Amino acid sequence: MTALLSISGLTAFYGSVQALRGVDLEVGKGEVVALIGSNGAGKSTLMMSIFGNPRARDGRILFDGQDITDMPTHEIARLSIAQSPEGRRIFSRMTVYENLQMGAAVAGFAGFEANLDKVFGIFPRLKERLKQRGGTLSGGEQQMLAIARALMSNPKLLLLDEPSLGLAPLVCKQIFETVKRLNEEEGLSVFLVEQDAHHALKLAHRAYVLVNGAVTMSGKGADLLRDPKVRAAYLEGG
Ligand code: ATP
Repeated sequence: MTALLSISGLTAFYGSVQALRGVDLEVGKGEVVALIGSNGAGKSTLMMSIFGNPRARDGRILFDGQDITDMPTHEIARLSIAQSPEGRRIFSRMTVYENLQMGAAVAGFAGFEANLDKVFGIFPRLKERLKQRGGTLSGGEQQMLAIARALMSNPKLLLLDEPSLGLAPLVCKQIFETVKRLNEEEGLSVFLVEQDAHHALKLAHRAYVLVNGAVTMSGKGADLLRDPKVRAAYLEGG
């Protein structure tokens, strides 16, 4: 497996509070990798630290062979890493079309029309709502827009932070199916942070369990789904 994202020995702090404690994690080319864990385990911190916020205190972060540990955030944002952050954070007063333009802007609008067609193929609903303001979309549509906006920058790696948050079960299912399609049909590599361990482990080729800022388990998604410890902590009402 060729690593696209490679994190080793990563530690990060908020002031004197240590949020990450020596994390080792890899996302290979063409892989879907999930990170699961309870509230406050440090999942979002890990994802944000890829963009240097917070900065790594120790350890290295390599993307596509390049050391990005100390790279300024605005430069990391111009690499082929796109993010759909927790809470989606679409531009609520901008239209769907303008949101997609914002996504394309980071990549200098390379392949804009083709990407637009691709995104409409994946999310036909967005095409019907092009002139609608982001803030007036349903939760599921906003999540679709957040992913679509990320795809407009031709990413090699898509980072998804809690895409299922606050969505109805059926809508979650659609979002996860879309991520699967993007991986299988477009070869997109995906790093997924999720509290919904069941869906995440079903979708992911491999997964990591984060507890109190440290990786405690890792393995194939299907194996972790069957693991008694994982089941007790994250799948059986825990
Ligand atoms: P959740 O699923 O609730 O989003 P998480 O696993 O993503 O949780 P983080 O949000 O990464 O967890 O938080 C990890 C730890 O860092 C928590 O103890 C949290 O209180 C702390 N933390 C997060 N953001 C900040 C911040 N901006 N300033 C100070 N402490 C923070």
